[in-house]
Amino acid sequence: MLPYSTDWFISWQPNIHSSLFMGIHQFLIKNAGIDGVQALITAYRLYLDQVQGLEGGEAVLSITRAWFLVRFFNARMMQLVPCRECGGHFVAHTNELHANYVCGICHPPARAGKTNVKSKSAQQDMSVGV
Ligand SMILES: [Zn+2]
Repeated sequence: MLPYSTDWFISWQPNIHSSLFMGIHQFLIKNAGIDGVQALITAYRLYLDQVQGLEGGEAVLSITRAWFLVRFFNARMMQLVPCRECGGHFVAHTNELHANYVCGICHPPARAGKTNVKSKSAQQDMSVGV
C-alpha cells in the first residue's frame, strides 16, 4: 500500500502546488539534463523558492509527496493536462477525458473565495510560467 493516493494531488490547493512542482520538474528533465533524485531535489527547491516568494506562501507539497508524484508520473498514472481557459498545465489522472479541462485557478471552488480571477494579467502570468 502506498501512503498517498493519487486523489490528494487532484484536490484544489494541492493540485495547484503539485502542478507548479511538476511543471518545474518536467522543465528540468527536458532542459537541464538532470533526472532521478537530482531532478527531484532541484525541482523541489525551486518550488519552495516560488511558494516562499509569495506573501503568506506556504508549501503544501512535502518532499515525500513530491517524490510520490514523480513516481505516479513515471508509472503513467498521472499526467499534465492543459487548461482550456488559461493554457497552464495541471496534474490530472491519465485515464480520464481532458478535452475540456478547466483548472482550479480558473474555476476555484466556492470555498476558495473569489468567483472571478480571470483577469488579463493573471492569464499572462500563467502563460509565461514553466
Ligand atoms: Zn486555468
